[in-house]
Amino acid sequence: DAQRRHGSHWLQLDGATAARLREDKWLESELGFAIAMRQLYVVFQPQYDLQAQRICGAELLLRWQHPEFGLVPPDRFIAIAEHSGQILDIDLWVLEQACQFLARLEQARFADFRLAINASATELSNPHYPRQVELMLKRHHLSPERIGIEITETALVELDDVARSMVSTLKQIGVEIALDDFGTGYASLSHLTALPLDTLKIDRSYTVQLESNPKLVDSILQLAEAFSLSVIAEGVETPQQLRLLQEKGCDMAQGYLLARPMREEALLILLEQENKVVPIGRAGQNLPG
Ligand code: C2E
Ligand code: MG
Ligand code: MG
Ligand code: MG
Repeated sequence: DAQRRHGSHWLQLDGATAARLREDKWLESELGFAIAMRQLYVVFQPQYDLQAQRICGAELLLRWQHPEFGLVPPDRFIAIAEHSGQILDIDLWVLEQACQFLARLEQARFADFRLAINASATELSNPHYPRQVELMLKRHHLSPERIGIEITETALVELDDVARSMVSTLKQIGVEIALDDFGTGYASLSHLTALPLDTLKIDRSYTVQLESNPKLVDSILQLAEAFSLSVIAEGVETPQQLRLLQEKGCDMAQGYLLARPMREEALLILLEQENKVVPIGRAGQNLPG
């Protein structure tokens, strides 16, 4: 009976929605082979320490190169993977890529370099996740501070008590916790104290308004200060935005102006170069001062 009701519900869908759902189903089944077929890979987007004016880490971003569909946007396939549960395997695979990369880095020279990974809301309801993170770090002989976990504000609001305590466990293990896309969800101030956060990540939609509407970022920075959190701005695209963030005392920045997401080989070259000349951003777009 429930199935029949479900069926009639489907019949009411308009053509476009039905086509989209068929495509989702197709993507979901293709995604099942993606890891084994080596269609998934990660790219690294550098994160800059604005005071030291150098790279302090990078965020791992997932890419799916499908032989027929081409590059499928993560916003699309991650939603599907969350719905199907495949995200559990995928996020674990991303974590492993992060640990492998860190283990490959020359430890003495890049001891402070951190990698941020994105954890979906589904991940946070997986009771095994903290233990999996801990084991993966151990296996690669990495200290937990080398990894940061980004949780979106939307996911945070959806968390129940169990998930909340999982975030605390992650924090106890020693990984950093950042609140991603901050300002786009509906987290109340009490959420900021309910979770052991280290960093607020200013959403790109606020970075874009830095010049026209500076009060938005100002108030996030004040909030962060009040709660003793560090702040990173995402989506920095112009030298003006970068200068304002630096003037306002924002701790870190990430965005196309500074560096685009890149393959491991390119990141290694960038890190080598930086070790010699300490540039921030591309030629002609260096930070003032
Ligand atoms: P996010 O975590 O907020 O990542 C930032 C997104 O902004 C990335 O898009 C990045 O490429 C893009 N970006 C960075 N700088 C700029 C800029 O200056 N301008 C503009 N316009 N965009 C910029 P991407 O790679 O398409 O990822 C989209 C979302 O997919 C991510 O948002 C994240 O929520 C999710 N995602 C990506 N990789 C993973 C993953 O491994 N696991 C999970 N669970 N989610 C992931
Ligand atoms: Mg993120
Ligand atoms: Mg973000
Ligand atoms: Mg985002």
